Amino acid sequence: MNELSKICATCGTKYPNDYKENNCIICEDDRQYVPLDGQKWTNSKTLISNHKVEIKQLKPHLYEFLIKPTFGIGQRAIFVVSDNGNILWDCIPLLDSEVRNFIIQNGGLKGMAISHPHYYSNMKEWSKTFNCPIYLPETEKDFVVNGTNEIHYWSGEGIELWDGIELIRIGGHFLGSSILRIPTLSEKGTILCGDTFYLSLSLKHFSVMYSYPNIIPLPIAEVERIRDKVKEIDFDEIYGFWSYQNLKEDPKQLLMESLERYK
Ligand SMILES: [Zn+2]
Ligand SMILES: [Zn+2]
Repeated sequence: MNELSKICATCGTKYPNDYKENNCIICEDDRQYVPLDGQKWTNSKTLISNHKVEIKQLKPHLYEFLIKPTFGIGQRAIFVVSDNGNILWDCIPLLDSEVRNFIIQNGGLKGMAISHPHYYSNMKEWSKTFNCPIYLPETEKDFVVNGTNEIHYWSGEGIELWDGIELIRIGGHFLGSSILRIPTLSEKGTILCGDTFYLSLSLKHFSVMYSYPNIIPLPIAEVERIRDKVKEIDFDEIYGFWSYQNLKEDPKQLLMESLERYK
C-alpha cells in the first residue's frame, strides 16, 4: 500500500500516485457531487490512523464490511463465502489488517465484483492483496481511474462466475449497474444490489434513479425496462448499498410494486 496515494474525501475513490489534477472525475459526474467548499483529499495513512473496518455477519456465509466512523459515501462491501471460492461484492476505501486477516482466515478471495463506479474506491489495492481478478462491465471503463491488469471486463447482459453466482446487468443508475445473484444463500436466491435498487428507510419502497444525491430520475422507459428485467430474476432476499438495506420478506414483490407506480 502506498500511503501517500490521493483519496477523494467525498467519494473514497483512490487515484494513482502520479495523479496531478485537483479534480475527482467520479464526483464531477452529475451522479455525484463536489462539496460546495471544493474538492477535498485524504490519503491511506490518514484514513487508517482514524478509521477501522467493522465486520458484521448478515447471515451464514455473508458478511458486511463497513468503515467506522463513516467515510466517503458510507458504502459497505459484502463478503460472500462460497464452496469454490469467496467473492467480495463492492469495495470500500479502507483495507485494514483486521479485515485482511478475517478474509484470509475464511479462505481468501477468488474474485471481486463491483456494482458501479461509486464503489471502485481502492479496488486495485484489494485485488493486489488477495491476488484476485475484479469483474467490471466494459461500459464503465472510463470511470476506472487507477487501472490494473487484474480487471476482467465483461460485456452483454451478465456473466456467470462459479457456484451458480452470476452478475446481472440492470442499468439505470449507470449503463453497467449490476447486481450479484447467489443461488445458494436462500431458497430462491439472494441479490446484492449496491444502489442499483435503493430501498427506503421504511423498508417499504424501492427507487431506481439516475442520481440519488442529485435526485435525478430515470426516464419512464428505463424504469419499465428495469421492471421487465426484474420480473425474470428469482430472489427472496436482498442486500443494498447501506447497512440498513437488508430485506428478507418478499423483496421481489416490493420491488415490482415500487416499479409499477410509474405509469
Ligand atoms: Zn470523488
Ligand atoms: Zn451510486
